[in-house]
Amino acid sequence: PTAQIGVTGLATMGRNLARNIARHGYVTAVHNRTESKTKALVGEFGHEGTFVPAATAEEFVASLTVPRTIIIMVKAGAPTDAVIDELAPLLEEGDILVDGGNAHFADTRRREVALRERGIHFAGVGISGGEEGALLGPSIMPGGSEHAYAKLGPILADIAVDVDGTPCSTHVGPDGAGHFVKMVHNGIEYADMQLIAEAYDLLRHGLGWTPERLAEVFESWNSGDLESFLIEITARVLRAGDPSQPERPLVDVIVDEAEQKGTGRWTVQTALDLGTPVSGIAEAVFARALSGSAAQRRAAQGVLPGPAEVPAVGEPGGEEGAGGFVDAADAESFVEDVRAALYASKVVAYAQGFDMIRAGSVEYGWGIDPGAMATIWRGGCIIRARFLDRIREAYEKQPDLPSLLVDPYFAGAVAAGQEAWRRVVVQSVQSGIPAPGFSSALAYYDGLRRERSSAALVQGLRDLFGAHTYRRVDRPGSFHIDWSGDLSESQFS
Ligand code: NDP
Repeated sequence: PTAQIGVTGLATMGRNLARNIARHGYVTAVHNRTESKTKALVGEFGHEGTFVPAATAEEFVASLTVPRTIIIMVKAGAPTDAVIDELAPLLEEGDILVDGGNAHFADTRRREVALRERGIHFAGVGISGGEEGALLGPSIMPGGSEHAYAKLGPILADIAVDVDGTPCSTHVGPDGAGHFVKMVHNGIEYADMQLIAEAYDLLRHGLGWTPERLAEVFESWNSGDLESFLIEITARVLRAGDPSQPERPLVDVIVDEAEQKGTGRWTVQTALDLGTPVSGIAEAVFARALSGSAAQRRAAQGVLPGPAEVPAVGEPGGEEGAGGFVDAADAESFVEDVRAALYASKVVAYAQGFDMIRAGSVEYGWGIDPGAMATIWRGGCIIRARFLDRIREAYEKQPDLPSLLVDPYFAGAVAAGQEAWRRVVVQSVQSGIPAPGFSSALAYYDGLRRERSSAALVQGLRDLFGAHTYRRVDRPGSFHIDWSGDLSESQFS
């Protein structure tokens, strides 16, 4: 056996990951259920490094030095189990089996336990950055035991992207921690994209500007606090023309029904179980679901009226006369308001995501360092952004920060933009342009900041109809009112 590491599953991701590993000087065994993919990889890219192609799982396992390190890059779910079931009997105690696919963290926990019983170290590793990241340097979120990480960590640090000399890979925590953090990363990605789409929608209809003109707005935003991969590619998509009719904007010919592969939904389902309010991610998942509710949307066309009059910002008209509700003279301030609203909403979405990471870490005893997660998301992944540096700094200063929103930098940034944020939400409501991400983020912000919440009434109602009891602000214990009798209060515990 000569190979230092093996990759099985050579579709888009596995193939590029194997090339990345081989390019870093590792002798890399490669295997795929359908052998043609293995041959194609070695035929096309064999010169990039030392590959050891294997036709069968047996050959693949036999080609690896012991203890073995194998990365599985196949379709998540049943295919991953099938590959594990095929490989496990061929492995020996001390071997490390890595799942680099988008597994649900609960599956990773189950697999880790089952393989541990056989003496095999199973590491669930979240890999972000898509096809290009896999080849040129992804952001990597490795879970699994310290033992597995001691061997795996240096390889992953080699193939991950570097930001300021720091690799975007660090040990997240045991068993499912890496896949959990990858899932939340994807959830945040949903929220971020939804907010960007809302900003675009408001600007397009508010200003009546062409997508091409809006591309310039996003480009200019990309040189400030909002600087990020998603803002950068928003400008690219908005600038693009329809290839079959270039004068028509591409965005106008794309069917407006968003699809999803499920990691956003997993994030929200898990957040519900953990009781963490990731409303930004939930709104994004539901907004995609609404966009895809084609029959309902069709039925509502022309039946449900919008506002009779759209209140103007300045005089209505739009600079290009395309029916925008913002006067040309006010365009600049409206753009600035939307930018501030986007930034503030984005801070809320990330604050919620980081809350969820902390809640998951506590629930499963993972000991995740949130600042380290911000550090490894600075490059290689879809949500890479300048402001992740600020998040890293916030957690460095205060590792037990109760919410990102109360960190002095973020509190100040959101405070500076909150009036603009409110104006944008009001404008969206008055003009009938849905902005669920902006408005729910604002509701979360206000919910967090208010001294007394309306939940006191909810507790009163629960006590009345279900004798669920309530706590008092002035005395410890739980209390119940005799609602059907003399309204006297009794105390429990
Ligand atoms: P796919 O998710 O499309 O999976 C295809 C691969 O899975 C092929 O190698 C296929 O083998 C193999 N496979 C499917 N079923 C089985 C089975 N029953 N037994 C053995 N092998 C099987 O590939 P991707 O490269 O897109 O993604 C790989 C993993 O990485 C997935 O878990 C994905 O979620 C994750 N991921 C993907 C990203 C992306 O941008 N695409 C980004 C980050 C993570 P065969 O050729 O024989 O059909």
